[in-house]
Amino acid sequence: MANRHMARIMDLLQPVMGLCNKKRTLLDTIPFPFFSRPFPWVPALKQPHQYTGMKNYLIPLCLLLISFAKAQTLLRPENVFDGETLHPSWVVVTKDNKIHYVGPEKGVPSPKPQQEVQLPGATLMPGLIEGHSHLLLHPYNETSWNDQVLKESPVERAIRGSVHASRSLLAGITTMRDLGSEGAGYSDVYLKGTIEQGLVNGPRLLVAGPAIVATGAYGPKGFHDGVTVPLGAEEASGVDECIRTVRKQLGNGVDFIKIYADYRLQKGGEPHATFSVEEIASMVATAKSAGTYVVAHASTPEGMMRAIMGGVETIEHGDGGNGEVFALMQKRGVALCPTLAAGEAMEEYGGWKKNGGPEPDRITAKKKSFQLALEAGTQLVFGGDVGVFSHGDNFRELELMVEYGMSPLQVLTCATSKNADLFHLNDRGRLRTGLLADIIAVEGDPLQKIEKMREIVFVMKDGVIYKNTGDE
Ligand SMILES: [Zn+2]
Repeated sequence: MANRHMARIMDLLQPVMGLCNKKRTLLDTIPFPFFSRPFPWVPALKQPHQYTGMKNYLIPLCLLLISFAKAQTLLRPENVFDGETLHPSWVVVTKDNKIHYVGPEKGVPSPKPQQEVQLPGATLMPGLIEGHSHLLLHPYNETSWNDQVLKESPVERAIRGSVHASRSLLAGITTMRDLGSEGAGYSDVYLKGTIEQGLVNGPRLLVAGPAIVATGAYGPKGFHDGVTVPLGAEEASGVDECIRTVRKQLGNGVDFIKIYADYRLQKGGEPHATFSVEEIASMVATAKSAGTYVVAHASTPEGMMRAIMGGVETIEHGDGGNGEVFALMQKRGVALCPTLAAGEAMEEYGGWKKNGGPEPDRITAKKKSFQLALEAGTQLVFGGDVGVFSHGDNFRELELMVEYGMSPLQVLTCATSKNADLFHLNDRGRLRTGLLADIIAVEGDPLQKIEKMREIVFVMKDGVIYKNTGDE
C-alpha cells in the first residue's frame, strides 16, 4: 500500500518537477487539469471504505508542495519598460504563465523565486503585438503575390506559415493580428489551432480568415472572363450577402473581420472606393453583435471616409489620407495602421535602393500623410504588413515609424500597451501583476536607439522561455 501511495505522489509531483526546470518545456503549457491524472483519487475521497485518515492527510501535503513548487522566475535586466514607462533597475517575477511582481528587487514577495534569469545590459518589455501580418505570404521578390495565390498549394502555404510563425515569436512577437490568408482560405484559423495545441511555436494569433472584398474588386486579375481563378479574398455585394459572409466567416473561426473599402478594378488601375457605407455598416453591426469588430484596407480618401462612417475600428495603409480624413479618424477613435515597411519593400522590389537614389514619389507622399496623421492626433497601430517582407523582420516597421517622425517611446508604446488596448486585449501588452507572462528582452536601450529592437535576447510566452541568449 505504501508503495502505491508513493507512486501516486510521484505521479502528482512529476509535472510539478517539470515546472521547476530552468527552461520549461512545451508540455508545461498544457493546462494543469489536462496532465495525466493529476488528482486521480480526489473524487474517491467520498468513499471512506477505500481511504483512511492517513491518506486524506497526504492530499493537503501534496497541495502544499505544489504551492511551494509553482514555477517562479526572477528576471533581472538592466531596465524595465512596462509598456508605458522606463524603470531602471526594476525586476520582474513570473509565476506559471502570469506576471507575479514588477518593481524594485527589494520588494519581491517571499518565498524568493527558485530560478533566475540574468539579463545584464538588456531592457525587459512586454512581448510585441504585431498589428498587421500575413503569415501565409512570403516576400514578393521571392514569389509574386499572384503566383503564391495561384501556384502554391494550401499545404505548402500552411507549412510556410508554421515556419513564419516560429520566426515571428523568436523576433519578439508574442501576439500577432493576421490580416487575411490571401487565397489560403481558413489556413490561418488552423495554424492558430496548431500553435495553441503546442504542435508548432508561434505567437498568439488573431486571424481574419479569407477577408471580404466587393464583387469584382480583388485579384488575381488579368484573365479573360471565361477563366475562373481562386481569389485572394471572398466576394460579397449587397447588405444581405455582406451580412451572410460575415456570419459565415465568424462561424468558421475568424477572430475579427477584414474588408477592403477600396481596390483597383483593373490590373494596374487606380484604386476606387468599393463597398457602400450601408454595406460596411451592416458588416460592422453583424461583427459587433458577435462580440468582435471590422478593420478595413483603404488608401483613398473616399474609401477611408466610407470605412470611418461605416464604423470600422482600424484603417490599414491609409496612404491617401488627408487632414480632413485623419481629423475624423481622431474624432471617431478610428486608428491608422500605416504599414510603412510594406510600402518601402514594394518600392525596393521595384528597384529603389534606400539611401542610394532619389526617393520615390510614393514614399515622399507617404511621409507627408503620416505627418498629417500625427498632427491630427490619430491613434497609430504598429503593424508592418509583414509577409510582404520577411517574417521575423518586424523591427523594420518600428524603425520606420521613428524615421517618419515618432519618438522611440511613442513607437514602443504603440507596439505594446496601445496595440493591446486597440485590439481589446486587456490581459497583455504591459508588464503588470496578473497579466500574461509574455515578455521579451532587448540588448541595450531601444528607447535611446530603436535599432536595438533587432537584438532580441530573450522571449517568454505564456511563462515558457523560447529564447534566452542573455545569460549564455
Ligand atoms: Zn496586408
